[in-house]
Amino acid sequence: MTDCIFCKIISGDIPSYKVYEDDEVFAFLDLSQVTKGHTLVIPKKHVTDIFEYDDDLAASLFARVPKIARALEKAFPEMQGLNLINNNKELAYQSVFHSHIHLIPRYATDDDFG
Ligand code: ADP
Repeated sequence: MTDCIFCKIISGDIPSYKVYEDDEVFAFLDLSQVTKGHTLVIPKKHVTDIFEYDDDLAASLFARVPKIARALEKAFPEMQGLNLINNNKELAYQSVFHSHIHLIPRYATDDDFG
């Protein structure tokens, strides 16, 4: 989709700090780091939200999450936990309408953000 920010990140038209890429999945640091290493994992195929996933897309996307989680753990050894967040539709606080999974590393020193 041409006016999608995340499609432009995948194509390189908008810069990002890439964490992981393969044929189907792209991961990059969130612009607004809730905690250090806050990463977004997205399907390369433009889908708006989880309601548009088919089985193949769900399998390829979610299969990459543990791998990327382990990479974050390696990059940030002081990390002691990880939140996965996936907002779907405006009422559920989705603000970018290219489906994405937030990986939010947690540290003993975190301020409580709820
Ligand atoms: P929310 O804004 O409530 O977290 P989403 O779950 O839709 O809603 O998350 C969109 C995320 O995309 C936000 O965390 C935002 O910081 C991030 N974001 C928006 N534009 C960019 C960008 N150009 N590069 C990296 N992250 C981005």
